[in-house]
Amino acid sequence: MRIEHQRLRRLTSNLIAAGGSREAEARAVADHLVDANLAGHDSHGVGMLPHYVRNLQAKTLVPNRTPEIVSNTGAFAVWDGRNGYGQVIARDAMGWAIKAARQHGVAVHGLRNTHHIGRVGAYGERVAAEGLLAVHFVNGNSGPPRVSPFLGREGRMSTNPICIAVPGTKATQPIILDFATSRIALGKVRVAYNEGKKVPAGALLDAEGKPTDDPRVIYEPPQGTVTPFGEHKGYGLALIAELLAGAIVGAGTIQPANPRDRGIVNGMLTVVIDPERMTDRSFVDREVDAMIAYLKTTPASDPTKPVLIPGEPERIARARRIAEGIEIDATTWRDIDEAAASLGMRFDGGN
Ligand code: NAD
Repeated sequence: MRIEHQRLRRLTSNLIAAGGSREAEARAVADHLVDANLAGHDSHGVGMLPHYVRNLQAKTLVPNRTPEIVSNTGAFAVWDGRNGYGQVIARDAMGWAIKAARQHGVAVHGLRNTHHIGRVGAYGERVAAEGLLAVHFVNGNSGPPRVSPFLGREGRMSTNPICIAVPGTKATQPIILDFATSRIALGKVRVAYNEGKKVPAGALLDAEGKPTDDPRVIYEPPQGTVTPFGEHKGYGLALIAELLAGAIVGAGTIQPANPRDRGIVNGMLTVVIDPERMTDRSFVDREVDAMIAYLKTTPASDPTKPVLIPGEPERIARARRIAEGIEIDATTWRDIDEAAASLGMRFDGGN
């Protein structure tokens, strides 16, 4: 079905409120999820709601949590999210990092024990909109590890996303590079599974370690894995995200001595930099504008697919989906409806 984004925000917010969140939290989480749908990343949109409800019921996700400040020494801070909604805790962490980077030129932030923070690009976009640069490394340190190391055939990591956001200029939109370090985000495997579709060839391995495009190997036994993107290079980046977001900030990695039964838990290392502390802003802006314009002059190898800049596909999807609505497949809608029923409400019973 196709649904208008404002209506989807209301329905989603009602469901999250039925899970025990106060109105502001319910609205913030709903906005983050629907914004992910609008950006074209259905993997991190409202299709996550059944997981969230399961985690609420298992008490691995706790509504209305404020973070514990583990340390704050000016330009460095570590927060413990105490299993609260990651979308709210990571948003507040970015607010801290923006202020601290303005004051000190750089801010480094670590986040432990937050429930799923969602689409990481949302945080990069927010920082870039303030004229600052952001680098985020994220790990997933609970649940079964679904991503196999390069040359391996058993899961050892999560999809560990990385986001780097460069502020835009008067002429150029912000550059937002934001991706899972797996060939395909796990949520996209879920979307394909729900829609009965295949995933790109080689994105998955079956239980024997043979490449497959069948998403059932992730959701039905015998268990397969998701491969890292870019062979040894993407695998290396996934490992770095694991170590920076897991070990360095004190969140914990997914190594087996750490507990795995805590729902969806993200660790995150964020570095925010004020570019004006390094170079004159007008020089940076000139170089950014010239470089992006130079890229855009490349003739397309396929005339129907022009060269894009990271962040552009999300802006294109957003404009289209705001105008045309968000498509939600029947299985995802049914799963959300069932999750709502388990909270004693109907998902589409709201206004
Ligand atoms: P993806 O493969 O769609 O890649 C997205 C990135 O590539 C974006 O920066 C986009 O602008 C850029 N891009 C896409 N096509 C492009 C083109 N033709 N030219 C230039 N740039 C282009 O993303 P993904 O790996 O499926 O990840 C989806 C989302 O999932 C991300 O927002 C990520 O943060 C999120 N995620 C979150 C978690 C978590 O635990 N919280 C885990 C994994 C992924």
